[in-house]
Amino acid sequence: MSKRKRILFLALISLLYLAGCQKGGMEAPNSRVDIQQPGMSRAELPTSESQSEVANDVSSNKTDLRAVFITYHMEVANMQRINQLWPLFEQLVALADEYDVKLTIQFAPQWATYVYSRDLLETVYSWEQNGHEIALHHHGPTHKYFDGYTNQPDIIRTDGWYIQDIPFAGDMADFMDLFAPLSPHQIVTAGMSDESIDWPGGSVLYFATDSGDSPSKDDLLSTPVEVIHNGYTVIEIYNSGYAIDHLGGEAVSLVDVEQALHSATSDQIMGLVLNDNTIEAHFDEVEPLFRLLKVYELNVQTVKSILD
Ligand SMILES: [Zn+2]
Repeated sequence: MSKRKRILFLALISLLYLAGCQKGGMEAPNSRVDIQQPGMSRAELPTSESQSEVANDVSSNKTDLRAVFITYHMEVANMQRINQLWPLFEQLVALADEYDVKLTIQFAPQWATYVYSRDLLETVYSWEQNGHEIALHHHGPTHKYFDGYTNQPDIIRTDGWYIQDIPFAGDMADFMDLFAPLSPHQIVTAGMSDESIDWPGGSVLYFATDSGDSPSKDDLLSTPVEVIHNGYTVIEIYNSGYAIDHLGGEAVSLVDVEQALHSATSDQIMGLVLNDNTIEAHFDEVEPLFRLLKVYELNVQTVKSILD
């Protein structure tokens, strides 16, 4: 090989090598390391000396937020509908595991019954072993979709827009008995309506809910408060829905979440709700949320682990 040919040959080898590197780089967009703000490279991230100045700077990936939880509402539904939703929910848990997001999973009674009838208890136990929390979801007698359980069956609504598919099944002691096999540990967190008459007490201490009478965007950030429901001391923490159609303008968007990350103070907790509508109609909006929280180096924790 002449000297000229050897140089050409080496140049060709170098070009092929560079092309290979580029391809490798292009395969990475879905990997965990590639989750930065658009237009911001690692080199541009603020250094530790400037962190305090930029904590609430909208161009930074820093937040003072104390903690964040994502709770899932398994809504009241019949077995056929739960059967359709179950595989989607399993996909959600798999995606959460990929991002190390620990979900607080609220089961309506019908979902617990579904788990028992389909021999899915081992699956539910494995979620808990992976750090997710098993929690309760209750629609009482004044909820549009009553779940069958209440301490006050005399006030079950049947008029107007109330959907009365499910007959009265028992009081809240019966409700708790139904859930006993769902977790080998005591269930400590609930989301529910009619808490003033139906709060179950016992081991259940934490209430992820709205601060007012209805869902609100303003409940995205809050600090825990102690209240009394049905004679029991309860720690309340608030949450807002994400990608849930029926909430309309009261559902938070990704932009709202990022704004809240910038405005949050170090005592505040961010609470987000996903439900059956989220995974059925907006599954593609879940991963961007998980990714955004990762960019801000936030580990999504369960309600129990935040409030314990
Ligand atoms: Zn609900």
